[in-house]
Amino acid sequence: MPAPLFPVFLDLAGRRVLLVGGGAVARRKAEALLEAGARLVVGAPALEPWLARAAAEGRLEHRAGHFDPDWLEGVWLAIAATDDAAVNAAVAREAGARRIWVNVVDEAPRCSFQVPARIERGPLQIAISSRGEAPMLARWLREKLETELDPGLGRFAEWLGSKRAALRARFPDPVRRRQVLEALLRGPASDALRRGDTATAEQALDAALAEAPAAQGRVILVGAGPGDPGLLTLRGLRALNQADVILHDRLVSPEVLALARRDAERIEVAKEAGTHHVTQQRIHELLVEHARAGRTVVRLKGGDPFVFGRGGEELEALRAAGIPYEVVPGITAALACGAYSGIPLTHRGHAQSVRFVTAHCRDSIDTLDWAALAQERQTLAVYMGVQGLATLRERLLAHGRAASTPFALVENGSRPEQRVLLGTLGELPERAAAAGIRSPALLILGEVAALGARLHWFGAAPITHRLAPGAEAPAAAARSTLAA
Ligand code: SAH
Repeated sequence: MPAPLFPVFLDLAGRRVLLVGGGAVARRKAEALLEAGARLVVGAPALEPWLARAAAEGRLEHRAGHFDPDWLEGVWLAIAATDDAAVNAAVAREAGARRIWVNVVDEAPRCSFQVPARIERGPLQIAISSRGEAPMLARWLREKLETELDPGLGRFAEWLGSKRAALRARFPDPVRRRQVLEALLRGPASDALRRGDTATAEQALDAALAEAPAAQGRVILVGAGPGDPGLLTLRGLRALNQADVILHDRLVSPEVLALARRDAERIEVAKEAGTHHVTQQRIHELLVEHARAGRTVVRLKGGDPFVFGRGGEELEALRAAGIPYEVVPGITAALACGAYSGIPLTHRGHAQSVRFVTAHCRDSIDTLDWAALAQERQTLAVYMGVQGLATLRERLLAHGRAASTPFALVENGSRPEQRVLLGTLGELPERAAAAGIRSPALLILGEVAALGARLHWFGAAPITHRLAPGAEAPAAAARSTLAA
């Protein structure tokens, strides 16, 4: 992959630009350049009628004849739009030698800049580029956006521009200013402007300027889902776009974080099993501090915040501090791992109930109701279980669950690197060790797990290789897995 292009918007007003070519393509370019206020020089032996008229009216300067490198004298930008490849190549070469940015229409390799497909709404412009590799796709996207973006947006952007100084003076703090603007955007002002009702919009702005209630921070507790960014909810996405600060766990995938507002401050509060980088108490303090400073804080957690996510404790701390909050659920690992491994958690005839349990430390293991967990025809979704698998097997077998009960261990569920290991309870810890299953992994135990062998659809095929008899030791088992 070559490096990405660097997008810019050029101010061409009053600047000299050379356009080489006098046909229909050149005319299209000339129209756009004149609209941008460029001092346009068009070089070509002859001009098509529209260009000829513009030249006659003095709106552009015509250099009659074949391309002459002298035409490049004093220009900021050059565009070659002839149907003669040799001329286009010469323009690109000569411009390049003079450090003048040059575009050859439809010949990306000769360009030092490219012209994007664009959408305009007054001063608001959206530019789309495919680096010249799929201009059709860029145009298709533009058409799609054209129909989706309200024409009134342009008027709104202009109006905001005219109010900019007043808003800045009234709200010197950029965070506060953004909040006021967002309220205006969502409120009656933008609707009124779209209808062309400037008076109502003015009233809404005056009200915002006059009232200016003190900045009120808040916390939105958001479930980021298991990793696939497509599994984030729309409400979660909206929260990420409003965030001034994002406090996220290690478990949150980079793809989900990439959807957040670019200028939001991101703070990783990693808490992996065993390595508590930031204590829960410290997380509470951070949430309260940022919210008290008037910020919109998104607390982003893997999966769902209320499923083994300590979301409840965080809300307790916020309530105690008097900070307003909202909660956006996420797709929890059990649901995602079931879906992405083709294992329905309940299934007629196989399982009438499903239990979400965690078994990561001695304490949590000892407090579980093993007799209930060992019942047949139910599914266990075990979180944080990678270390506790041997104890889990021992307890379940002791309480009567059959050694032949199927399991699925789903590692990195819903992510491109997902792995699914299938087997039976009797050989669970050995199989997991042999396959080198690491956190995050979720154990699905119960009759339904066997369905993963037939119904899998995502990522690599499940690992179903059985251990050779007597090859229980992890090292030997690892070798046999590799040899398989
Ligand atoms: N709140 C989270 C769970 C946090 S506990 C949720 O609702 O999903 C962390 C445990 O969740 C991990 O140890 C693992 O068992 C499970 N987990 C989270 N994401 C996972 C993923 N993508 N694949 C497999 N297991 C996952």
